[in-house]
Amino acid sequence: MSMFCFQCEQRGKYKGADGTLLDGCTVCGVCGKKEDTANLQDEVISSLIELSKTKPNDETTLKIIEGLFTTITNANFDNESLKTMIKNPKYDMNKIWQGNEDVRSLKSLILFGLKGMAAYAHLSFMKVYLLWKKIYQQMNLLLLF
Ligand code: SF4
Repeated sequence: MSMFCFQCEQRGKYKGADGTLLDGCTVCGVCGKKEDTANLQDEVISSLIELSKTKPNDETTLKIIEGLFTTITNANFDNESLKTMIKNPKYDMNKIWQGNEDVRSLKSLILFGLKGMAAYAHLSFMKVYLLWKKIYQQMNLLLLF
């Protein structure tokens, strides 16, 4: 299996090598996400898990929101921009994916929920930014009297 993503309702169903039905995208995403992008997105998340261990401040919170948002379905398939978000240290995601299935389920639920929250937060920031941008542009115009 070259990738595994099961974060959205579009996910595919595939038969694994042992005949087990896998509920997730394992070759490429139904959404179009490729294997290399999926794995880079996992690395982004692993960086964010480590970042979340530091004392929170505005900068880290924004990085976490941006990073979570960028991994939601269809938000960002640009590998170069994903690479800029990957920092060391990185959390070993196998601790989740290879671990106890109840813990894995709970952590996945939390992670996907946080991604959803980040999407709304990101959208709100953009709305506020665009609103204030319009206001500031008007200020600039007023200064041209
Ligand atoms: S985000 Fe894309 S790769 Fe992941 S489960 Fe949904 S369709 Fe599949």
